[in-house]
Amino acid sequence: ITSKQPNTGTTIFTVMSKLAADCGALNLSQGFPNFDCSPKLTDLVTHYLKKGMNQYAPMAGIQPFREVIAQKISDAYQINYHPDTEVTIVSGATEALYAAIVAVVHQGDEVILLEPCYDSYAPAVTLNGGTPVYVTLTPENGYKIDWNVVKSKITERTKLIILNTPHNPTGTVLSEDDLTQLAEIVRDTNIFLIGDEVYEHIIFDGREHWSLLRNPILQERSFICGSFGKTFHVTGWKIGYCLAPKALTEEFRKVHQWLTFSTVTPIQYALADFLKEPDNYLSIPKFYQEKRDKFLTCIKDSRFTYTPAHGSFFQCVNYQNITDEGDYDLAIRLTREIGVASIPVSVFYNQKNDYKILRFCFAKDDETLERAGEHLCKL
Ligand code: PMP
Ligand code: GLN
Repeated sequence: ITSKQPNTGTTIFTVMSKLAADCGALNLSQGFPNFDCSPKLTDLVTHYLKKGMNQYAPMAGIQPFREVIAQKISDAYQINYHPDTEVTIVSGATEALYAAIVAVVHQGDEVILLEPCYDSYAPAVTLNGGTPVYVTLTPENGYKIDWNVVKSKITERTKLIILNTPHNPTGTVLSEDDLTQLAEIVRDTNIFLIGDEVYEHIIFDGREHWSLLRNPILQERSFICGSFGKTFHVTGWKIGYCLAPKALTEEFRKVHQWLTFSTVTPIQYALADFLKEPDNYLSIPKFYQEKRDKFLTCIKDSRFTYTPAHGSFFQCVNYQNITDEGDYDLAIRLTREIGVASIPVSVFYNQKNDYKILRFCFAKDDETLERAGEHLCKL
């Protein structure tokens, strides 16, 4: 077989989680909680399974689920997405991202990616005939986006820009000013946007989530991708949503119907009910801020340096006071030798680099964070 993805290997998440399991290491690599979701949620799923909600859901998702999502967005941002034509339920944000990319990228189009970025973006672009154009963000200036650099990368072939806030892996978030500057760049163009906002509720220190949909110039051209896996500690359920204006949603659904057609039915009913109680998601920022602070307390006597994450469930740390090794080698060694697995941040870059940053996932019970901290402080 002639590979369509000759440069694609196994994702770093699979590699590190397997190594962690093989070594019996604490797994702070792949981003998933090691604690369970609310029992109310599993009870609801059980209820709907037993009630026989076990056949295909409608292609776009069940009506009450699309309605409650539209209502939630309208309550939070006073922006109305029509549940029938502008909200689609998908099998995880990975599907939403892929479907949005397929929907808009034609052969020869350019797609601007801000690196470091999530590993599914670039392959989805190239598999669909597009070319990723990178804007490189660096730890030296806190991964701040220089919008003049973004502007300088725009050509008549630019079709799409993908943004991620709160950001995996860096834990940074976009500000209102970032949205304003982006709007200036795209306002008189036909450029589409994807807002990868899977960590929308995991944001700290009183910061607001600046969804792309809060700026009207951005909203009218955006696919906003969300994931309930992150918000409700159920990454294995692979269920999320895509919000987009009607014309964009029409094209999005044409792809979605050939990718998965529809998404797991009983879980849609369960989440529709669960979302009706706002406290189920409004409590999440505090919950994860405490996890972040717990992890930072556990590594405060280490030789790592860091800026506390502003959002997401990841903390990046700089290890240049500890060793000269490359981050990939170090992540492997720490898993084997001290029993703590992390993710080397260089894998999120297209450009080769030696920034010496590791990413730790702090969506873990306190005991795991404490034990990881003890090991990391010995370095
Ligand atoms: N985007 C980002 C930035 C992520 O971290 C993840 C996490 N897996 C995804 C998309 C995919 O989300 P899902 O598991 O819902 O497919
Ligand atoms: N989003 C998760 C992370 O960044 C991993 C998801 C996956 O394994 N594909 O760790």
